[in-house]
Amino acid sequence: MNCIQCNRAFSDEDRVASISGSIMGDEYTDVYYFCRICRVFTVANWRDNFTGIETMVTSGPIDERTGMKRIELIRRCSRPWDKKCRCPVHREYFNDALD
Ligand SMILES: [Zn+2]
Ligand SMILES: [Zn+2]
Repeated sequence: MNCIQCNRAFSDEDRVASISGSIMGDEYTDVYYFCRICRVFTVANWRDNFTGIETMVTSGPIDERTGMKRIELIRRCSRPWDKKCRCPVHREYFNDALD
């Protein structure tokens, strides 16, 4: 993964948070990376459809304030990696569209 703004390669410490959910049988995972130089987030949007094919698109840049609000939301769930979690955090993050 590279910063969408400066194209710097991210290291493991730059990976800030991730959250998974399933919508219509497809698994979605958003991984947030923060560039300390640009002060913006780059997001990897992984999608694993029912045939098992994984695709990834990169989105961003997201400014620090907006990104931190999403990170703080994700951190309120104790199992953000669990696509079967149906807590308020998961519902809000995925706009109540979870299976
Ligand atoms: Zn950057
Ligand atoms: Zn949750």
